[in-house]
Amino acid sequence: MITTTNPATGETLESYAELSGQEIEAKLAKADEAYAAWRRSSLDERSAMLLSLAEAYEAHRDPLARQATLEMGKTLSSARAEVDKCIALMRHMAEAGPGMLEPLHWDLGDDGSAEGRWLAQGPVLAVMPWNYPYWQVVRFLAPAIMAGNVGLLKHASIVQGCAAMMDAMMSEAGAPEGLFQNLAIKSDAVESIIADDRVVAATLTGSEKAGSAVAELAGKHLKKVVLELGGSDPFIVMPSADLDAAVEQAVLARVQNTGQSCICGKRMIVHADIYERFRDAFYAQMQAVQAGDPMDDGIDMGPLSSTDQLETVLEQIETAKKEGATLEFGGEVQDGAGAFITAGVLTGVELDSETANAEIFGPIAQLYRAQDIDEAIHIANAIPYGLGSSVWTQDADEEERFVRDIESGMTAINQFLSSHPVAPFGGIKKSGHGRELSHLGLHEFMNLKTVFRP
Ligand code: NDP
Repeated sequence: MITTTNPATGETLESYAELSGQEIEAKLAKADEAYAAWRRSSLDERSAMLLSLAEAYEAHRDPLARQATLEMGKTLSSARAEVDKCIALMRHMAEAGPGMLEPLHWDLGDDGSAEGRWLAQGPVLAVMPWNYPYWQVVRFLAPAIMAGNVGLLKHASIVQGCAAMMDAMMSEAGAPEGLFQNLAIKSDAVESIIADDRVVAATLTGSEKAGSAVAELAGKHLKKVVLELGGSDPFIVMPSADLDAAVEQAVLARVQNTGQSCICGKRMIVHADIYERFRDAFYAQMQAVQAGDPMDDGIDMGPLSSTDQLETVLEQIETAKKEGATLEFGGEVQDGAGAFITAGVLTGVELDSETANAEIFGPIAQLYRAQDIDEAIHIANAIPYGLGSSVWTQDADEEERFVRDIESGMTAINQFLSSHPVAPFGGIKKSGHGRELSHLGLHEFMNLKTVFRP
């Protein structure tokens, strides 16, 4: 059984029977069968399917949101916003997807011409995390449906209820059986699925460790893999920035989803000329962050997603202190069985320490002082991750330096970084490879067949 727990109360929620080997085989057979038909579907049928799915999510917006809040502790308002974002992506893909699959053409002169045709490839396995239990999956699912592929989901153990609801939404939307199936399995069952000849590729969002394990399996079995892994994004503030806006968004970036977002600003890097002003305002606003019952609309953040996650963050704080960093405030565990922690700030983190190089998945910021833009960029790039970044400046030359020199897949200027249903998403370095969203994400698991004509 896979058992889920409410991280706000410690109460057991539900137990889900783990699929047996035979049941996994039946799901793979169904995926294969569904693919044989879905690959031949017209683009109009795929758009209509996505629109029906969007309607199903809209009709069940509240129960979907409540399930996410119950299982992983995000605030109900943010869970509703997550469902809305999924709906927006489904509708965008329904409308814009067919245009992204227009054939390509090359004139070969005396040798004739070549055409590029976007063809489906088969069942794709998605190994997904709990932090955005719907959005992470829909980022894979919406393009899979438009591509003519079919999806198999191995969701994180702690959000099996969300996974089951996503499965139910497919039936509600009238999807052909097998177009998307939830597999209630633990990670040890992933290898046999990746190894199966019917599965053509895998995509994983999660930790570096899980990404490396799945990429190794995909490599062994020669399957393509897209990885969206962790990040410890820099949030750089220069003297010309609108300081009030920068502070407010730095706090939001660090505490949204109780700090459990791969692309939230985790390392605040502030120019020496404005360091004290930023620090004082940042500390005051971080200390004012209210953690509480995530079902309550008035609170800023809920608990961490599990007591395991709480233990991990507390260990990371202890490691930071042992390495000589100072916990200025926060990181306190609240009474009771919930996985609550207060927002906090670490200073004095050495760039070569374990802390600087780790992803802290909780509302604990690191604050750095930089003498100039060179040092700010040096600090930003000094870690193995390269997912996102946020830079605050009114100076066009500085803006250009950040865009060119920060080693990341995404840079947001004068705003905190968040993904958008329309724009490409992904990282470099140990934050993974490949892209999700846009035509680039849609094409990741498709066969671009080159057709030659005399
Ligand atoms: P994991 O990366 O371990 O989990 C993500 C998904 O991968 C889950 O479905 C998990 O299944 C699965 N998984 C884990 N190990 C393997 C494996 N060896 N083979 C196949 N599948 C695997 O996240 P955790 O919940 O353990 O969180 C640990 C840390 O990961 C966090 O502190 C954070 O730093 C990072 N993280 C980053 C995320 C991001 O968005 N970039 C999202 C979540 C976590 P199961 O749940 O059954 O173990």
